[in-house]
Amino acid sequence: MWPAEERGCIREDLVNATLRGTVRYPHLFIGGEWVAPEGGGMLDSIDPATGRPWASVAYGGRRDIDKAVAAARAALDGPWGRMPGHERAALLYRLADIYQKRAPELTLLEARDSGRALRETRGDIGAHANWYRWFASLADKIWGRTIPMDDSVHIYTSRLPVGVVGAITPWNAPMLTTSWKLGPALATGCTVVLKPAEQTPVTALELAKMIEEAGFPPGVVNVVPGYGKDGAGEHLVAHPDVDKIAFTGEGATAKAILKTGADTLKRFSFELGGKAPHIIFGDADVEQALNAATSSAWAVCGQSCALGSRVLVERPVYDRVVEVFAERAAKVRVGMPLDEATHMGPQSSDEQLRKTLSYVDLGQAEGAQLVTGGRRITSGALADGYFVQPTVFAGVSNQMRIAREEIFGPVASLIPFDGEEEAVAIANDTAYGLTAGLWSRDLGRAHRVAAKIRAGIVWVNTYRYIRWTTPYGGFKASGWGRENGVEALDSYLETRTTVVSTTGQFPDAYAN
Ligand code: NDP
Repeated sequence: MWPAEERGCIREDLVNATLRGTVRYPHLFIGGEWVAPEGGGMLDSIDPATGRPWASVAYGGRRDIDKAVAAARAALDGPWGRMPGHERAALLYRLADIYQKRAPELTLLEARDSGRALRETRGDIGAHANWYRWFASLADKIWGRTIPMDDSVHIYTSRLPVGVVGAITPWNAPMLTTSWKLGPALATGCTVVLKPAEQTPVTALELAKMIEEAGFPPGVVNVVPGYGKDGAGEHLVAHPDVDKIAFTGEGATAKAILKTGADTLKRFSFELGGKAPHIIFGDADVEQALNAATSSAWAVCGQSCALGSRVLVERPVYDRVVEVFAERAAKVRVGMPLDEATHMGPQSSDEQLRKTLSYVDLGQAEGAQLVTGGRRITSGALADGYFVQPTVFAGVSNQMRIAREEIFGPVASLIPFDGEEEAVAIANDTAYGLTAGLWSRDLGRAHRVAAKIRAGIVWVNTYRYIRWTTPYGGFKASGWGRENGVEALDSYLETRTTVVSTTGQFPDAYAN
């Protein structure tokens, strides 16, 4: 249960309502006002640990999105659009301070809403203020270049906010994916309409309160929970006055978004799925590699794109790896997300649980060896939630669907290989290219292999090291563009080139 020493930092009424499951958010945040939905209504947010509603949240429809986009446009045309970078930075720093203070509240809400274990959620949300501070630090450093040609011209570039950004986020890490979009959008001077996932709308509205408290002008950030397909999400994407969509979610959704947004030729950035290879060479420090590989097989109940879901193991150490995976799986404490002892909570939804279980059946049908796990937990306090056992498959071939498709559940596939060349071939034989890891004591091999892997980030002798400063995003079907790092700013900016003649002379094309 929520530790008493942390309760002092958070509002008792919110804690009680969260624990009792009586949280209610009847308003959307549009144009700096809390307004009842016009085109939507109220939706229940389901607690995945119990399968029952625990919060009731206003959701927006077409008319609410229209209002939010109009507010975002007005803010862009108003004082926000003229605000110098250092003043935007000051607002972002203020937001970071408020966020840090309220992190315990957000942690509690997000753990209840998404089902992620408290100890994991605390570590995640506790770091987000660093993201806002990082983007604050960049807000007054958005400058162009001068381009030398010859002395008849003076050429320079300016970087301008892309405009109104529609941010569409998923359920697995709601506040993390939001900070990765809001930070660069606000640093560059864009305005935002945020649509969180229908399964996890609560923390986005708490964030709206922080935006208000930090003093951002009305309309700079608008929060409209709602449905994706045929709802607020789709309308936001189609809206002609939205200049860019920043999206995290599934590849199939990204393709639908591209089609919906095609008529308006807006900009898109996508953070999509992964099927990361986590390579353990025979010369690695295998015990350390196993710590990383087992932790990143089952973290977030397997619901993160960065996890090493394909564990590639060199044959001399394969049996040892299988053995330790089975031992560790037995040590994972699956339990209620708000219990401090819990390592792994439930899957985020009934749909995701069914998807994971269907892949367990598929893996067995394909001939992989189910070493441990693979079943829904149906006993005791966990019976009504979407809990599943940590699962290990051995003898997996990279051609099997469990190795090719993103399961998004706590399922590790252990794939044997012989030698460096085969490791690289298997690692790259995937539609995805988001993250990868490799373990070896041979420095030359580590660099050689890292250089051949087609992924947006490669970890060597570590795994899931992600910070505000480190660019993150995918090759191939894993996405477009980068979040984090200085690179995150690029997809929120347009470049204007200005060419000034120093002579004012222009020849008559028809003189001769
Ligand atoms: P989805 O793609 O289903 O949904 C993501 C968001 O898009 C939700 O807000 C959803 O709304 C909205 N949406 C759905 N359909 C449309 C549409 N037609 N137009 C506009 N918006 C729409 O992903 P999930 O939420 O199911 O998240 C899981 C997936 O996301 C996984 O496959 C995972 O790989 C990927 N992911 C990738 C990450 C990365 O960083 N690369 C991080 C996290 C997840 P609604 O909730 O109402 O459906």
